[in-house]
Amino acid sequence: MSEIAVRILIVEDEEQIRRFLRLTLAAEGYEVHEAGSVARGLIEAGTRRPELIVVDLGLPDGDGVELIRELRLFTAAPVIVLSARSGEADKIAALDAGADDYLVKPFGAGELLARVRAQLRRHQQRTPAGATTIEFGDVRVDLVRRSVERAGVALHLTAIEYKLLTHLAAEPGRVITHQQLLKAIWGPGHAGDLHYVRVHMANLRKKVEADPSMPRHLVTEAGVGYRFVP
Ligand code: CA
Repeated sequence: MSEIAVRILIVEDEEQIRRFLRLTLAAEGYEVHEAGSVARGLIEAGTRRPELIVVDLGLPDGDGVELIRELRLFTAAPVIVLSARSGEADKIAALDAGADDYLVKPFGAGELLARVRAQLRRHQQRTPAGATTIEFGDVRVDLVRRSVERAGVALHLTAIEYKLLTHLAAEPGRVITHQQLLKAIWGPGHAGDLHYVRVHMANLRKKVEADPSMPRHLVTEAGVGYRFVP
């Protein structure tokens, strides 16, 4: 069995964390490349063509958010951001710049590997040409007829609820920020209208979640946004 290893690039300046990342990922059979700065990260990303990139937000020669913007000019590979517990604003900026998920330091090996697998899976399945339905729990979304059923019974979603659901469900495992949702659903003039998202999300959850107070599929990322878990 000689499968070609999935290439992962780590951009992290702290030697100890980089070592932990390298050992954890290599033990799972990933081919790991490393960089300790924004400049080196761009070179490695350009030459190694990694299938996933882990980016620390505090780098010696610049900002991880800037690096993500540059990366997004030439690669669609999923980006997982490493952030300090205090770096709430940085985390959101990174997601808005095109990162897919984040891990708050300190994190364990199991958590890291689960996030990596989820992103690789999502990336491989992205926009499958024939995908016309989304299913989770007992809910089934027909993207062609724009209809939603729960346990075989038609659900009546408003246009906004339908957009919210399909926007999140199109990218399972990805954290979508409040700003991204506002822009995609209400348009660029509504950046400050966070309560729109909250109100419509609450209504949507009542319709598709078994227990709307403990959502299993439309999960809140506190202070950041939402994540769809199939
Ligand atoms: Ca750092």
